[in-house]
Amino acid sequence: MGHTGDVSKRERGQSFSEIVAGVRERPSQPEPRTGGVADPTGTYWRRSKAEISPSHALDLASAGTAVAWDACGCGGDCGFTWFTPDEVAHLVQSGPPVVRHKKGRLANISEWSSEDGRRLVVAESEVRWGDLLA
Ligand SMILES: [Zn+2]
Repeated sequence: MGHTGDVSKRERGQSFSEIVAGVRERPSQPEPRTGGVADPTGTYWRRSKAEISPSHALDLASAGTAVAWDACGCGGDCGFTWFTPDEVAHLVQSGPPVVRHKKGRLANISEWSSEDGRRLVVAESEVRWGDLLA
């Protein structure tokens, strides 16, 4: 036969160009989206501060920061309740949220950030805020 060497050389060349193509394609592929939550508009949010005070949450909401509620406290696996700007204004009018510490139940307020630098207040589980949460 005598062409064995040519075949293996061509296979090496193909696998090399496949590697190059893979490297070129990588930047255009979406970032792996783990540990965060997408809102209904497709904005992706990640937790940036594990815990913020109720008064800071109120300050953020007063300044127009979006608010969401993780009703079951799973971190967003089953989705957040997203509040409209009107509902957030209603929350602000009712004063600061109340973190209701109960045995065995999550009660926390965290701050999240989007890829484009916006912020989000997330009330986790047993948080009362106006008449919309908990
Ligand atoms: Zn959940």
